[in-house]
Amino acid sequence: MEHENSYRHLLKWGDKREETVGHHMAGVIKEKFGLTDDDFGRKHLPGTEPVKLEKPSMLKPAQVEFFKSISGDENVLADDLSRARFSCGKFYGELLDMRLGLVPDPPDAVVAPRTHEEVVRIVEYCSRELIAVVPAGGLSSVTGAVRSPRGGIALDLTRHLNRVLTVNKINKTVTVQAGMYGPALEEELNRQGYSCGHFPQSFEYSTVGGWISARGAGQASTGYGKIEDMLVSLKAVTPAGVLETKDYPRTAQGWDLFRVFAGAEGTLGVITEATLHIFNYGPENTASAAFIFRSFEAAVDAMRRIIQSECGKPHLFRISDPDETDIAFRTSGFDGTMADRVLQMLGFKAGSRCLMFVAVEGEKDYAHFVLKKIKKKARAGKGMYIGTSPVKKWLEQRYSSAYMRDPLMDLGIMTDTLETAVTWENLLKVWKAAHEYVAKRPKAFLMIHISHVYENGANLYFTFLSPMEKGNEKNDFAAFHRGLVETILSYGGSISHHHGVGRVLAPWMEGHLGKSSMELLRAVKRHLDPNNIMNPGGTLGLS
Ligand SMILES: Cc1cc2nc3c(=O)[nH]c(=O)nc-3n(C[C@H](O)[C@H](O)[C@H](O)COP(=O)(O)OP(=O)(O)OC[C@H]3O[C@@H](n4cnc5c(N)ncnc54)[C@H](O)[C@@H]3O)c2cc1C
Repeated sequence: MEHENSYRHLLKWGDKREETVGHHMAGVIKEKFGLTDDDFGRKHLPGTEPVKLEKPSMLKPAQVEFFKSISGDENVLADDLSRARFSCGKFYGELLDMRLGLVPDPPDAVVAPRTHEEVVRIVEYCSRELIAVVPAGGLSSVTGAVRSPRGGIALDLTRHLNRVLTVNKINKTVTVQAGMYGPALEEELNRQGYSCGHFPQSFEYSTVGGWISARGAGQASTGYGKIEDMLVSLKAVTPAGVLETKDYPRTAQGWDLFRVFAGAEGTLGVITEATLHIFNYGPENTASAAFIFRSFEAAVDAMRRIIQSECGKPHLFRISDPDETDIAFRTSGFDGTMADRVLQMLGFKAGSRCLMFVAVEGEKDYAHFVLKKIKKKARAGKGMYIGTSPVKKWLEQRYSSAYMRDPLMDLGIMTDTLETAVTWENLLKVWKAAHEYVAKRPKAFLMIHISHVYENGANLYFTFLSPMEKGNEKNDFAAFHRGLVETILSYGGSISHHHGVGRVLAPWMEGHLGKSSMELLRAVKRHLDPNNIMNPGGTLGLS
């Protein structure tokens, strides 16, 4: 564990463990980026200094007293460490700032309300006093959505508003407070025979309110849907009043108001409770399969045919492109084995072969029926079944791979992700254009996968790595990142499929959505938050 008062402690992912680069992975990194053993002995920008803020808290003593009178002294924090912790999420640019000892956007204080009623009083007061309010869940945002450029308060929803309120077994729904983390929710649901069905890679350190607000997708979203598909109703506190929607299965009473909050990223109000669909819990029934294809094009074609065939949907459905597949084979030690040589002889060549992973959940008979159909279609698309163990291994490390970013940054390697939604028609164009863009940067490396699949298209998820330009880390990253976003958009990708927009992708909103759509978003914002106190300062491109 790092010293708890250091930048490093704040920037590190999850349980703050010191993750190390394994033997196989170290070999790949040395080869791709020209690093030596000496590089592995040093830490670039380790961020081990104690946190010290330059910006003093701008709240007046009477304002601090007000928050304390509402939520109790112990739930109002204005020390440097708390303010720095709530000053950002986990976007690469923010982590870089922390490593450089920079905290550009701290809130003036962190307030942890204990009840919905306290949130109502806090939001009313802040609207009157023109104090910015940034709702904060697990702070795992990767889009700059939890910064406080206008100071004010960060509202920590995780400390107290973190319980399941009811599991309704008749309606098959859960009503949960917004600050509840994934594992606690899932544990409670499993105990009662259910599952939440939403497993983002950040599952361990993200909350229900954050999932809804960033409009996230879990790793099994092809079967269970994105979070907005699971959302039945919610309770939200806005400066214009409390909005509470009802839990009907469907209505035709004008448009659905709860949807306004899915993707609002804290700009309209604070979600305090949500009612979500839940699913039967039966992991022993899961039927899984891994396939290998000779090319990305062949794998994508098979994936499209499977999802469009109406023979049931897999829950987990992924393709790793050739670069990601090669890295998976090399870092797992599969590369060069007898099995690898057999695959190569059969035409599944390194540099073009692709892995596809499938898992179907539900009743045992159903899962096996759907998997049988998928196997048939994968074979018809010239995919080869390679067993179940690659899927099981992938599932075992599905949260832990997030910890690799810290040691890579220690090695001076820039590593970030972007993601987009594309129609099937555009998928290969965007995939190819992104690779061409990254290939122009010396020693840069891009891996792409598909992990959320629909009848008319899918997402593309980009992970890029490249040595940092030492001394110019921030500008270099910003320029490279901007170019990749623009490449994705110009070939027909969306700004985001599931990470949201935040402040990082906000500059592209108006150009992408169009002026009329942005005006509509701004009008809703003006109505619910007339004094612009909710997560102000560029989020979603609203101001
Ligand atoms: C390693 C890693 C892996 C990730 N993998 C995935 C993934 O697989 N799928 C995915 O969808 N995302 C993923 N993300 C992104 C991120 O985890 C999600 O956006 C997540 O939904 C954010 O939840 P959070 O609780 O951390 O919210 P925060 O980061 O705290 O907040 C995110 C946004 O929601 C707002 N907000 C939070 N709570 C509330 C509330 N109660 N009311 C109103 N507004 C609120 C905030 O103001 C902010 O705008 C990943 C991030 C990391 C770092």
